[in-house]
Amino acid sequence: MKYAILSDIHANLEALETVLARCRELAVDYYISLGDIVGYNANPHECLEIMRKLPVVAYVKGNHDEYASNGDTVMAGFNPHAKSAVLWTQNMLSDEERAFLSGLEYKEQIKGTPFTAVHASLDSPAEWGYIFDIHQVKDTFSYQHTQFCFCGHSHVPVAYCKKTLIRPGELPIDELKLWAVKPDEEGMMFRSDEADEIVLPVQRGCKYLINVGSVGQPRNRDPRASFAVFDTEQNTITRYRLPYDIAGTQEKIRAAGLPDCLATRLEHGM
Ligand code: ZN
Repeated sequence: MKYAILSDIHANLEALETVLARCRELAVDYYISLGDIVGYNANPHECLEIMRKLPVVAYVKGNHDEYASNGDTVMAGFNPHAKSAVLWTQNMLSDEERAFLSGLEYKEQIKGTPFTAVHASLDSPAEWGYIFDIHQVKDTFSYQHTQFCFCGHSHVPVAYCKKTLIRPGELPIDELKLWAVKPDEEGMMFRSDEADEIVLPVQRGCKYLINVGSVGQPRNRDPRASFAVFDTEQNTITRYRLPYDIAGTQEKIRAAGLPDCLATRLEHGM
């Protein structure tokens, strides 16, 4: 069985279609949606429509989904560009679409699977905390009751592994897997490596916290769409990066009158 895990699509239809075409080639069976289907880019309705037709085993809510659907006009913590895109999105969605988004859970332990899905972090999923350092990783691990937790929100793909089976002489450490990004001089996890695919073989006696990155607005200085596929037969998690028609997405952002910086950031992966 193959599960594709998608996060932070952010109304980017070109990126979503590219990712889904690859998922079809890979013969993906099911999908997990980690939230922020809308916000920032210009095709919220189309992206929602496509996602809702897929065999999705779990959808969780992102902060943009929440603000685009609950009528909040303050949006504490949002920068002015993100805020104006959410206000624009609120007007684009139907009542039914807003009800769908506002009804989503913040986190979900997915029935019949060893997976938990969350947009932000497991310790405070509704407060939209980011997982950037090892302390935040440990906090989330302490609330993780399944072997795998998939998250998004930072738009930076990264995988963490915690040994749960400690052999004599081993230390019970949370280990940072350098999956897709390396810490830069300030310790922030930007700077991607160049691989199109990185395969993480699953080990017994380990728990995993996997940020699958963003389909629609990647931020680790790599503009390619990011997502992951869990293969239960191979027992692997693969992170993919795919180029897509960025110019097409930018054109729509500008035509919609959304802030121009939302278009330019896409080509820089910021
Ligand atoms: Zn997001």
